[in-house]
Amino acid sequence: MTDRDAAGLAALGIDIGGTKVAGGVVAPDGTIVATARRATPGASVSDTEDAIAAVVEELSDAHAGELVGVGVGAAGWFDRTGDTVLFSPHLAWRNSTLRKDLAVRLQRPLWVGNDADAAAWAEYRYGAARGADLALMVTLGTGIGGGMVLDGRLRRGSHGVAGEWGHMRVVPDGRLCACGNRGCWEQYASGTALAQTAREVARTSRAAAGRLLERVDGDADRLTGEDVAALAADGDPLALELVTDVGQWLGQGIADLAAILDPEVVVIGGGVSKLGEMVLAPARQRLDRALPGRGFRPGPRVVVAELGAHAGIVGAADLVRLAVSEGDA
Ligand SMILES: [Zn+2]
Repeated sequence: MTDRDAAGLAALGIDIGGTKVAGGVVAPDGTIVATARRATPGASVSDTEDAIAAVVEELSDAHAGELVGVGVGAAGWFDRTGDTVLFSPHLAWRNSTLRKDLAVRLQRPLWVGNDADAAAWAEYRYGAARGADLALMVTLGTGIGGGMVLDGRLRRGSHGVAGEWGHMRVVPDGRLCACGNRGCWEQYASGTALAQTAREVARTSRAAAGRLLERVDGDADRLTGEDVAALAADGDPLALELVTDVGQWLGQGIADLAAILDPEVVVIGGGVSKLGEMVLAPARQRLDRALPGRGFRPGPRVVVAELGAHAGIVGAADLVRLAVSEGDA
């Protein structure tokens, strides 16, 4: 195979989260033609690699000869080369040589990197950020992930860890974060933040939180972001207020990102993005008010991701295809 042929071949994309390894065979036009998944045994590095190898084996058995390589996006911080996972809040990796281990096991061309970076690339290539000069991805899940595409390239910073917007400090000495700091953006504008604020309110204002508490037999500590989302969709005033609050925090953070990077578009993905305009409308309102130099400069478009839960798979697959076609995998 010549490098140029790679652009016309399917690739295998893998997305590793805290609970599952999901994989897909992805055609050059971004469509997924087959999928497989395994549970992630998060406590052990070698068990996680076993799960990755099992997904690759299952998918490549049915598509042998058509696959250009394997792209792996994982919920962790990578060094610039993608060789080493420096840290992963929800998985066992600490300075782990994931890329080398997978190269030995899989014997295929590889791209290895951050899952939100892969999702950002997918949205740039096939989704809501198609063709943008500078696109930012903000994924709202357990935390806030991020990625940046500038001038047609994924940008990962000097040390590989750019785009961790979730750890901008938005509240001095605020809520404690898994990164070791306090007051990080993801403590106020993620799915976890939605649940935490709901629990705080439900403990102190049990009457106002009546419908929320009904869902968890009166035990405020069991409230999740999904509980709040479901009631907000049903028009519950308190749930709507909590979702609006997350949206306003989201807009404030985007204004700060716009002050630094001046993006054309900010794509909102992850579980919380399923709330759509309930979160995005207050986010845009806050952005309009908080954008530095407002009224005298354009701001970014704020849109929902188009590729949904499969963005990480699609992006990782396309990134290995790109790497092979450039002789770099
Ligand atoms: Zn943090």
